[in-house]
Amino acid sequence: MANNITSVSKESRRFTPSDEFRKQARIKSREEYEALYQRSINDPAAFWLDEAREIPWSKEPKKGLDWKEPHAKWYEGGELNASVACLDRWKGTPTWHKAAIVWEGEPFYQTGEPEVQTLTYAQLHAKVVKLAAKLRRLGIAQGDRVAIYMGMVPEVVVAMLACARIGAPHTVVFGGFAADALRDRINDCGAKALITQDIGYRRGNEVKLFDAAHAAAAQCPSLRTILVHTRKLENLHLDDDAFATKFAVTEGSQEVERMIARTDLVPKDEAATPVDAEHPLFVLYTSGSTGKPKGVLHTTAGYLMGAYVSTKYVFDLRDDDLYFCTADVGWVTGHSYIVYGPLSNGATALMFEGAPNWPQPDRLWDIIDRHNATILYTAPTAIRAFIRTGEEWPAKHDLSSLRLLGTVGEPINPEAWLWYHRVIGGGRCPIVDTWWQTETGSIAITTLPGAVDAKPGSAGLPFFGIVPKVVDQEGKEVARNAGGKLILANPWPSMLRTVWGDDARYAAQYWSDVPHVYTTGDGARQDEDGYFWVVGRIDDVLNVAGHRIGTAEIESALVSHPFVAEAAAVGRPDELKGQALVVFVTLKTGAAATDETRAKLLEHVAKEIGKFARPDGLRFAAALPKTRSGKIMRRLLKDLAAGVESKGDTSTLEDLNVLAQLRGAEE
Ligand code: ATP
Ligand code: MG
Repeated sequence: MANNITSVSKESRRFTPSDEFRKQARIKSREEYEALYQRSINDPAAFWLDEAREIPWSKEPKKGLDWKEPHAKWYEGGELNASVACLDRWKGTPTWHKAAIVWEGEPFYQTGEPEVQTLTYAQLHAKVVKLAAKLRRLGIAQGDRVAIYMGMVPEVVVAMLACARIGAPHTVVFGGFAADALRDRINDCGAKALITQDIGYRRGNEVKLFDAAHAAAAQCPSLRTILVHTRKLENLHLDDDAFATKFAVTEGSQEVERMIARTDLVPKDEAATPVDAEHPLFVLYTSGSTGKPKGVLHTTAGYLMGAYVSTKYVFDLRDDDLYFCTADVGWVTGHSYIVYGPLSNGATALMFEGAPNWPQPDRLWDIIDRHNATILYTAPTAIRAFIRTGEEWPAKHDLSSLRLLGTVGEPINPEAWLWYHRVIGGGRCPIVDTWWQTETGSIAITTLPGAVDAKPGSAGLPFFGIVPKVVDQEGKEVARNAGGKLILANPWPSMLRTVWGDDARYAAQYWSDVPHVYTTGDGARQDEDGYFWVVGRIDDVLNVAGHRIGTAEIESALVSHPFVAEAAAVGRPDELKGQALVVFVTLKTGAAATDETRAKLLEHVAKEIGKFARPDGLRFAAALPKTRSGKIMRRLLKDLAAGVESKGDTSTLEDLNVLAQLRGAEE
């Protein structure tokens, strides 16, 4: 089939979990996994109703799934509240007085004074209840959207759960975005309130969140109220006037005054609003790697169950775990695996403010060392950055408290996996690779840590209830080890319900490319053991000497060279060949960007994959263009390689300078 993808990866190493890990794991063998998995797909309704007994409902659901393609309803008839499922449920249990969140602020590194906050479930609950009551008093009702534009402080979790408590869907906007990006997201979902904070800290600087929020608000007609959390101690002594108690919005031709309030003026305790299982819980905009971000809608019960069940099995949480997910709450990983998943499991989540490499490249290792974190969940982009700065940084710290590692966000190249395993995991921690998307809501493909062997670079096996397949254009499954489109054949509880305000885009984007299945947009192959290997985005597939090859495999070959920190492969229109292969490479500290290095790297790819795959051009780059969530934006590199101006959305690009620098690079 002409459209299939050729896989060139030869990775064959595998890692078996230790007996010690296996013994205490929830799922202890591949057989156990298979049995549960078969149940989850043979009778999904029964499986998911069973699991749902573990969370509290105000009204029990009667039915698992109601499916009218492309619209799913899960847990019909059920009523619940996500904040109750995360907090109130622990009342009267030992978990109530256990830490829900352990947080460390950035100024610690400047003042030398530990700025650590621990919130028990009881304390977090008290804060959530008060903010929820405050939101109600400000006129925010069930169904009203609330934007949250904050840094990584415990109050961002409070804000999310307070919204959930009153049935107001939240939309968290990453705190690193500028006013324009915030404005567009508020307007797209018509948010009525905005919760922000005065400032945040990052790399020794104050991030002026309130100022940006204020600037955005002036162009957001739907917005009625801004709530400001005070992060900076000095600001606590200021009264409301310090933030200007009013802001103006232009409505039609009129200027209308709106209100600004403080989050810390608190009313009394009030009950949570039970909502329908399908009530919107949040809207979250995707990272924008492949185009304009989409407002992905998740609803309450199905999403919560996806987050709850996946956290339970994938991170295999123990009561005494200190679980550290380094994602920002502005991305789906922060939603599912800092907030809803861990809290609904009664876990302790570690959060930090600031950057992973400031003031030194060992910020994470320092945090893990001092707090004795047991689980670390991070992204390949971070791991590659750590490899680049060298092993001496983690070596300064005792990381022996870690027992499990996880990765998410991009395909992890085997070399980075091995480094993570050896240097961070001390060779003893299993690594769970987790493939999923903002749209899937929770982990969809993974290597359950005590159950199966890990293969570096492979996301692993399907999670419960998920039926991934690798298919051709007609939707026919391709042979094992052949590449194709990664699709999900069945609906699952935490799937997105629609694109906010654009159901036609939802149907077109996800349910039309291959008939009757969910299109992920990713290319993959499934190997002889059933493991899935994501080979890159379908839109980025390269045509190399007549073979269609995923970007990830070329990039992995480059990164396996000791000089290379990071690589991106793109195709460029070529008169003779149809398409030429161009690669962008960032080097490790100490390697020189010379013609000699270039020749070595080209030869290396030819050796690893085959002569036909020797790139036609190689450009050295100080950095690659990435989304704010750390993913390489190949579409921008593609335009650059072709010498055309990028017309696509660049609103989520991390650093515009990177593109300017790359324009000057030679091949
Ligand atoms: P947009 O949809 O706006 O282009 P995005 O796809 O980058 O943005 P996310 O939902 O944050 O937004 O990312 C999901 C994508 O990330 C997946 O489709 C996949 O390409 C990639 N991904 C995530 N985890 C993994 C993983 N473990 N292995 C391989 N790829 C992964
Ligand atoms: Mg996507």
